Amino acid sequence: MLNVNKELCTGCGNCEESCPFAAIEIEDGCAVIGESCTLCGACVESCEFEALSLEIEKIVKTDIDAWSGVLVYCEYREGELAPVSTELLGIGRALADQRGVQLSAVLIGHETGDSAEKLVGYGADIVYRVDHEALEVFTDENYCVVLTALIKEHQPEIVLAGATAIGRSFIPGVATTLNAGLTADCTQLEIREEDGALLQTRPAFGGNIMATIVCESSRPQMSTVRPKVMKALDFDMARKGEIVDISPDPESFGNRVKVLETVIGAAAEVNIQEADILVSGGRGLESAKGFELIKKLADTVAAKVSASRAVVDAGWIPYPHQVGQTGKTVAPKLYIACGISGAIQHVAGMQTTETIVAINRDKNATIFDIADYGIVGDLFEVIPKLISKIEERR
Ligand SMILES: Cc1cc2nc3c(=O)[nH]c(=O)nc-3n(C[C@H](O)[C@H](O)[C@H](O)COP(=O)(O)OP(=O)(O)OC[C@H]3O[C@@H](n4cnc5c(N)ncnc54)[C@H](O)[C@@H]3O)c2cc1C
Repeated sequence: MLNVNKELCTGCGNCEESCPFAAIEIEDGCAVIGESCTLCGACVESCEFEALSLEIEKIVKTDIDAWSGVLVYCEYREGELAPVSTELLGIGRALADQRGVQLSAVLIGHETGDSAEKLVGYGADIVYRVDHEALEVFTDENYCVVLTALIKEHQPEIVLAGATAIGRSFIPGVATTLNAGLTADCTQLEIREEDGALLQTRPAFGGNIMATIVCESSRPQMSTVRPKVMKALDFDMARKGEIVDISPDPESFGNRVKVLETVIGAAAEVNIQEADILVSGGRGLESAKGFELIKKLADTVAAKVSASRAVVDAGWIPYPHQVGQTGKTVAPKLYIACGISGAIQHVAGMQTTETIVAINRDKNATIFDIADYGIVGDLFEVIPKLISKIEERR
């Protein structure tokens, strides 16, 4: 809570100016705090008269040593494991090995086939398989109950989940129930050597800086990671692990939500994240019609079509095609960027691509800094030539 000492406040307005959230106004010669205050403390530092003070609730220090291990929530939907699950086991394995602890996986659903065995092959030491017909269809309520109960029982120091539609939907509820923090959309996870804390790095301030967040005084440390950011380990059939079947208590399930029907939306149909090759168009296409050329090149190389935000905002192509910080993170084998300048927010979503080809008429375009192959030229001349060369070779 932010307190104003009315006797000390002179109404000088320094705090009003220093507030990044425009949460302070001077009324009748005294600072008044509005609802948009985030308790950042900038005003406290700016006040020469010590009229402002922050009252922070005392943080209850969790017994950190009682929490051990890395736990990954492994998403299972439509009869298969979401690829992000195995990607998270890859980074989870590295973190667990560095900490010298176990890596466990949580699999929630109904009749999940050989998925638990697969999770062992991808690096898990233990798989907690929670199978119940009420869990066949995802609901926030029930998945939150199940995962929270497991975390409370096993007390892992680190919990990882995918920043997918499902993860984004229920993981914040799990964190809130556990009174834990949650760092969303991490791009890097590392262990701090001195004290074993998890360093959770993610873009901040519109992608202009990378912020590293540390959760020093409570457990678990919870992070979500977008698909295609981390790399899965190679599947090892010979790996040994334990599969523990858990029978959930149906009494604990909620009934506030009833799923009547599941409809696959346009976003899922496009699914640029699973493509091996992407041909991506930017503002250099000049209009929506430019995508006809992009589509032609994509068909020639059996690719999917993606785009920059500029052209999505312009309405030339729908949002599910957008690559970048506010779009999808992709990591195909080949990414052909056509008429895309290479803004940091775009690059953040495709920089782990194996091979990047850029076509741009501006030889100084930033996209060439990260491209493996750069073609300087007018895309309306280059792409047709490229298509005919590829067809010729066939
Ligand atoms: C908070 C925030 C989040 C954002 N999130 C995203 C995001 O998720 N994804 C994203 O893409 N952007 C994002 N942006 C926007 C980003 O900053 C850029 O504005 C955007 O990526 C630019 O798109 P572009 O490269 O298509 O267009 P431009 O920057 O306009 O580049 C067009 C390029 O085409 C080239 N060109 C023009 N004509 C031709 C031609 N005939 N032949 C060849 N080359 C040609 C030009 O030389 C230029 O380099 C975000 C911005 C902010 C502030």
